[in-house]
Amino acid sequence: MTTKTCTKCEVEKDIDKFCKRRDRKDGYNTICKDCDNQKSRQYYTDNRERVLKRCRKYNLEHAEETKEQRSAYGKIYNKKYCQKPDIKQRRKISHQNRIKNNPLIKDSHRLSGYLRRSLKTIGSRKDNVFFKLVGYSKSELDNRFTPMRNSPCPMCRRSLEDGYHIDHILPVSCAKNREELIKLFKLSNLQLLCPSCNLSKSNKIPKEDTVACSNGACLI
Ligand SMILES: [Zn+2]
Ligand SMILES: [Zn+2]
Repeated sequence: MTTKTCTKCEVEKDIDKFCKRRDRKDGYNTICKDCDNQKSRQYYTDNRERVLKRCRKYNLEHAEETKEQRSAYGKIYNKKYCQKPDIKQRRKISHQNRIKNNPLIKDSHRLSGYLRRSLKTIGSRKDNVFFKLVGYSKSELDNRFTPMRNSPCPMCRRSLEDGYHIDHILPVSCAKNREELIKLFKLSNLQLLCPSCNLSKSNKIPKEDTVACSNGACLI
């Protein structure tokens, strides 16, 4: 048997366009891979909350395992793609170009640096500049972060004991000028996420905040 007709789209296709299934008489699924993918996507759209809940549960139960797998994969990936000198150089140049074309990025890095440092040290002069700019104090910042540090990551519910990233709920990339950028460093726009959630969130805007950002207001 080299072809088979999909029961869903009713098209005759090569057998390798069907997933293998041991429980079927001929050893292949009744619907083709395309239809199967479409079905899974539809299921996800219809049951998003349920799927995410199941994933979260799985991640919690298999935290150690997935952590090991991820770090093993990370090492291989890093060795394969990130260690070549030309890649490092290209990244550096593209980063410099981004800063040149958008000075806000430089400002944003500087502010993030102040923010990170001010969590560790007790008020150097530069940090005072930061607090003056954003309009709150170190103790107010601590008051916001301390309970967050002791709670699970708000996205995946994993513990933040092993480390966390400071996340801007509305990403700094939606600032159009320095004033807006500083507003995005407001306490109410800062939260703690586990590193993997923060990296996967990247500069995506939370759904409910899309309006606030696209208005150009960026006010929270
Ligand atoms: Zn099909
Ligand atoms: Zn998380």
